[in-house]
Amino acid sequence: METNKANQEFQSDFLSVTDARQAIADLIASNYESSAMHLRKETLPLHQCLGRILAGDLLSPIDVPAHDNSAMDGYAFNSSELSDDPQNLELTNIATLHAGPTQMLPVKPGQCIKTMTGALMPATCDTVVPQEFTMTLSNGLVSFSSDVVRAGENHRLRGEDLQSGKAAILQGRILRPADLGLAASLGIHQLEVYQRTKVAILSSGNELCDIHESLAPGRIFDSNRYSLRACLERLGMEVIDCGIVRDNPDDLRRAFIAAAQTADVIISSGGVSVGEADFTKQMMEELGEVGFWKIAMRPGRPMAFGSLKPSSSKSTPTVFFGLPGNPVAVMVTFYQFVRNALLQLNGAKRVEIPLLPVRSAVGIRKKSGRTEFQRGIVFQDPQGQWAVKTTGSQGAEILRSMSEANCFIILHHDQGNIEPGDWVDV
Ligand code: AMP
Ligand code: MG
Repeated sequence: METNKANQEFQSDFLSVTDARQAIADLIASNYESSAMHLRKETLPLHQCLGRILAGDLLSPIDVPAHDNSAMDGYAFNSSELSDDPQNLELTNIATLHAGPTQMLPVKPGQCIKTMTGALMPATCDTVVPQEFTMTLSNGLVSFSSDVVRAGENHRLRGEDLQSGKAAILQGRILRPADLGLAASLGIHQLEVYQRTKVAILSSGNELCDIHESLAPGRIFDSNRYSLRACLERLGMEVIDCGIVRDNPDDLRRAFIAAAQTADVIISSGGVSVGEADFTKQMMEELGEVGFWKIAMRPGRPMAFGSLKPSSSKSTPTVFFGLPGNPVAVMVTFYQFVRNALLQLNGAKRVEIPLLPVRSAVGIRKKSGRTEFQRGIVFQDPQGQWAVKTTGSQGAEILRSMSEANCFIILHHDQGNIEPGDWVDV
């Protein structure tokens, strides 16, 4: 990978969030995206495909709808009954058609047929007048004004939504509930998806304590592996938990080499900040090509990104993200840099989460020249308008601020202080 180049360019300076994202996307696109080896496929029953990534265009085997049918509960008739001048029509209803298989009765001039939504349209009918615009007269005739319906209305045509052989869902789609319903509506019971990217996670730090141990003085519980694991599982990745690794070159080297045997991606947290980075850097030089970046952002300034050399058991290099140790910084950098990269590696298209402008209910202090990710709560004010406020203290170690938040307030690189009522992106 060409991380050295990226590294040289940015080492002396702070890298902007936008440039860091672009550098990661470019490196992944040029090194992995076209590599078929990286993207293994598997076929799964439809109900196991939620959140997985479609491996090829899904072509419809049928026309949708499969038959001409009625879009309304009403009366089907031939539009030749309608004239240019509005007039009252009186038609003889010959039967009722329900959705499902029915006998096709011929509907002759002066006649109509009661149709329920989804009922097959008789060949001689092309228009349905909705029931609510009609009256049934005492003599049984159905009466309505000709200006309540135009020729062809409320008639769904065969193949109108989708024609047989056309793509219903495109390759690279992260499958959502509607996609699974759509596949089912075409009679498709299994899908070819990409195998889940294998992501190894590890926490580095001498102070870290496993949650199953009791907390000795000076130690802290390792929370990063749990927030990271959950982020990854929600994203549909396969997680390999490599535990806590102590801050010494031998243990770290061993852990990285072991992880790179099976994982497509390794994500570590901690050990990339000033001081510790020098030593991680040295080790990474042996194992692959990794850039150590200072990013103009808060929280989450230090980050390492690159690749580890292919091993005897795996011919592709392993992508490496070295995230900062602070629990909030881990999640911010995950969402800003790792999430999209993983989806991209796993073959997904269109992975960006949209930003939406909302009025800030509060003033926020912000320095220009870096991107800030405040934890926010979007809420409805008493007038029913959506607004956003921050979740109190914003320290990078305060995980509660993430837990209480329902969004990030993204204060862009060049933005300064925010006054109450200003628009901000969330
Ligand atoms: P570092 O980047 O290693 O200097 O860590 C920055 C801060 O995050 C320190 O206060 C660490 O104790 C803390 N930290 C590092 N790793 C973890 C972890 N896995 N869980 C919770 N806090 C951590
Ligand atoms: Mg540390």
